[in-house]
Amino acid sequence: MEGVHGERTEMAIPMPVTGGRDMLARMEGTPLRSVPASLPGPVNPVHALAQVERALPDLVPDARRALALVGLGSRPRVEAAGELGVSEPELSRLLAAARKALRRTVAQLPAGGWCERAERLISDRMDGALAPAGEARLDSHLLGCERCATHEQRLVQAHDLLVGAYLEAHSPRPALAASATRPTAELRVVESPDERAPSLRGWHIAFVVGVLLALAAVVLAILGATGAVHVP
Ligand SMILES: [Zn+2]
Repeated sequence: MEGVHGERTEMAIPMPVTGGRDMLARMEGTPLRSVPASLPGPVNPVHALAQVERALPDLVPDARRALALVGLGSRPRVEAAGELGVSEPELSRLLAAARKALRRTVAQLPAGGWCERAERLISDRMDGALAPAGEARLDSHLLGCERCATHEQRLVQAHDLLVGAYLEAHSPRPALAASATRPTAELRVVESPDERAPSLRGWHIAFVVGVLLALAAVVLAILGATGAVHVP
């Protein structure tokens, strides 16, 4: 049960967001974690719900509404819970269920045990609703569990596809959305650091070379002064 077929079909799905960010993360030495795309500007809740219904027709209605409000609409959880008439823990559960279904649209993974809890913590973290203790537990689980690391990656990928589909259907600038093969929100996130990267690298190299030259001069001066080498 390796999920080989799932992996193969996933390759066909465009993954627009990771390349530049992966490189940046490596350069900066930060842990790799994809940041989900968010829709620019106010989100029409009716359109958001319709989009979620199209993507996840079999999901229970409350979970669809939760994902439309919080996942697409970026509504704070407190507000969304009030609007749906559920407690915040219940909203957390609904969102985790919706996001499991969302991830399944791009990848099937084996389930069970602590991984179910991890999926919920991942969902909570996406909304900034995870306490530090939960975050530490989640990170240590993700370090040892490739399955859950894959879940997180695929969930972000599926989320971004949903955001892209919404933009394609409801973009305030249809020409831009139609010409783009990925969400405009992601275009902004990915391209500005990439554009800056070459000049930053250039400055970085010039700085390092300057420091090395200065060091060499100091070493020579010291060696000359101590008589270790003859400085003309
Ligand atoms: Zn796991």
